[in-house]
Amino acid sequence: MAPSRDNLSAVLHKARDLRLEQKELPEPGPQDVVIRIHKVGICGSDVYYWHRGRTARFVVQSPMVLGHEAAGVVETVGSQVTHLRPGDRVAIEPGVPCRLCPICKAGRYNVCPAVQFCATPPVDGTLTRLYRHPADFCYKLPDHVSLEEGALLEPLTVAVYGCQRAGVGLGSRVLVCGAGPIGVVSLLTARALAAARVCVTDISPSRLEFATGQGADGTVLIDGASEEELAGRVVAALGGPPTAILECCGAAPSVRMALQAAAPRAKLAFVGRGPPDMDLPMVTITAKELEINGVFRYANCYPLALDLVASGRVQLGPLVTHRFTLEESESAFQAALDGRGIKIMISVHD
Ligand code: NAD
Ligand code: ZN
Repeated sequence: MAPSRDNLSAVLHKARDLRLEQKELPEPGPQDVVIRIHKVGICGSDVYYWHRGRTARFVVQSPMVLGHEAAGVVETVGSQVTHLRPGDRVAIEPGVPCRLCPICKAGRYNVCPAVQFCATPPVDGTLTRLYRHPADFCYKLPDHVSLEEGALLEPLTVAVYGCQRAGVGLGSRVLVCGAGPIGVVSLLTARALAAARVCVTDISPSRLEFATGQGADGTVLIDGASEEELAGRVVAALGGPPTAILECCGAAPSVRMALQAAAPRAKLAFVGRGPPDMDLPMVTITAKELEINGVFRYANCYPLALDLVASGRVQLGPLVTHRFTLEESESAFQAALDGRGIKIMISVHD
């Protein structure tokens, strides 16, 4: 196939100013690959940038290509790349650290101070026809794993790392707070890790219905009831207090309720992004020796996430409820902002 000259990209100039523009064609450095992007999932952070031009920590100050949940087909490889070749289908791990600092060397590269992450200002993202990325942050997909599943490995990897940080394993009683895409992949991962029961909470009955369809053993609708009453419902749904908690909504009342429900020595993985400060029941945390572990994306989890999908233990297909083309990106972001469905997928190439 002749190399494409088309590099149409979805470029955010400022809040609500998304333009389809041609970008320069990328050339691979010695250790890079250039990827013909096929599928890009939309994440809440992309929607924040599009809608507000910022998230809590980062501001769009110059035009930036959006998107970071991506998979595609290798087009060209750099001179030193040995494990990939043109035509390979790959998932892209979007955060690339320095690889040299003590934190990277200790394997915790997600918290490397120099990490560069797709579509986090000022780094361009993957909503582009041709995209350059370091080859060691690309994972070859087996033939039976689709490119949509490849793109969905990104949120799944958040869940895999979250489950590690919450200590989910054989026999865990797991509470997942929030049934958005991250909550749902956390549910799927906890089940794959042989959790005994998983209970999911949300303020939205339709999202809880979706979670039930994805295998939640119980759900608790966050209505006007007190935190104590809701904690009681969680304990009843799990047949005991949760031993592992994945907080996937970030709302302060949800965190407090979860800590109240928690078993002694339970671990809470704090995935959701909420207000910068929260009042938490410190006496409860001390008295039950609870562990609260922050979650910042993931490290060393892409291969595990790919294995969960390739082995059939996690099925991501049902998560994609809406599909758009690159040219329809604006409508895709609007659909995500409106909270339509679960996961919105953009086809950059079919
Ligand atoms: P989402 O907004 O689609 O889902 C959040 C869900 O929480 C929604 O369904 C919402 O109805 C529900 N919710 C709101 N208030 C609630 C409450 N009090 N109790 C229970 N549920 C409540 O978002 P998502 O894409 O699923 O992501 C979940 C969270 O994880 C977001 O805050 C996102 O920013 C964060 N996130 C963090 C990381 C990380 O590295 N830490 C990575 C990805 C996403
Ligand atoms: Zn580093």
